[in-house]
Formats: sequence, structure tokens, C-alpha cells
Amino acid sequence: MFAAYSSRNGVTLIEGYGKLVSANQLEVKAADGSSRTIEAQKGIVVATGSATIQVRASNSDYQQVIGAREAVSLHQIPGRLVVIGGGVIGLELGMVYQALGSQLTIVELTNTLLPGIDLMPCELSSER
Ligand SMILES: Cc1cc2nc3c(=O)[nH]c(=O)nc-3n(C[C@H](O)[C@H](O)[C@H](O)COP(=O)(O)OP(=O)(O)OC[C@H]3O[C@@H](n4cnc5c(N)ncnc54)[C@H](O)[C@@H]3O)c2cc1C
Repeated sequence: MFAAYSSRNGVTLIEGYGKLVSANQLEVKAADGSSRTIEAQKGIVVATGSATIQVRASNSDYQQVIGAREAVSLHQIPGRLVVIGGGVIGLELGMVYQALGSQLTIVELTNTLLPGIDLMPCELSSER
């Protein structure tokens, strides 16, 4: 569906893994192993998302330490869950699992949950 939309709007969609090979060249490797190089005329925007900050232990050190992306697709509701980071995503995930029966502990670096957000929702979530 996106392919049809994008071609109508002058966007070319290429499926593959992009790797910068110079300031204006991108190598794209397709799933079948073939690759092609695209040359940018003006510039390249990197929008590959972000990764969870690793807190000393990497996922390979402790298999039960997972990131927020993996936490949305657990196959079992954990009996006890520790969430490191009391921001919006940590609270959203933690409180969903709490509602499903997990005993929840949230660890937050600053002296308030939801740092940077109005005090009222912070106080309400702290009470839960
Ligand atoms: C559990 C959870 C809940 C969230 N809830 C909310 C919410 O309620 N509201 C909200 O606004 N945000 C929410 N977010 C955050 C939101 O998902 C991200 O901020 C948003 O997806 C970031 O968009 P993005 O385009 O930067 O990166 P992404 O959505 O991660 O997109 C990056 C894309 O780049 C592709 N890619 C990566 N590397 C390459 C490569 N080398 N070559 C080609 N393609 C590549 C990836 O396959 C991916 O499709 C949530 C995130 C999580 C984990």
C-alpha cells in the first residue's frame, strides 16, 4: 500500500539495509544479497530510530534484562517486574503489566516520576 502511495507522490521506496559508505553515498543490501549504491545530490537524512541506553549489563549478559521494544511482546505476564526509568514509556509499560497482575517496581534516577511533566500526573502515578 505504501509503495502505491509513495510512487504517486514522487517517493521511491527501496527495501533493504542501508549503510553509509561516504558522506553522499548509501549502500543498500537487499534480502536476496544483492546490493546497490545510491548517490545523494544534496544530503542524506538518517532516521533509523534510537536504541535503549544500556545500564551496565548488556542483554547478552542477562537474558531477563530487555528493552522497552521487547517488553511489548512478552509471551507471559511476569510475576514481578522491575522497570528502570520512570518516564512515559516505563510507566505506560509498567502499569499495563501491573494491571495484568505483575508486582511492579519502578527505579527512577531523578526525585520524581515523569520528569519534566506537570506535577499532578506525577503525583497520581506515584500513588499507584
Ligand atoms: C513501548 C513503547 C511505547 C511507545 N509509546 C509511544 C507513544 O505512546 N507515543 C509516541 O509518540 N511515541 C511512543 N514511543 C516512541 C516511538 O515509538 C518512537 O519515538 C518512534 O517510533 C521513533 O520513530 P523513528 O522514525 O525515529 O524510529 P523508528 O520508528 O524506530 O523507525 C526507524 C526505522 O528505520 C529502520 N532502519 C533502522 N536501521 C536501518 C538501516 N540500516 N537501513 C534501513 N532501515 C533501517 C527500522 O527498521 C525502522 O523501520 C514508544 C516506544 C516504545 C518502545
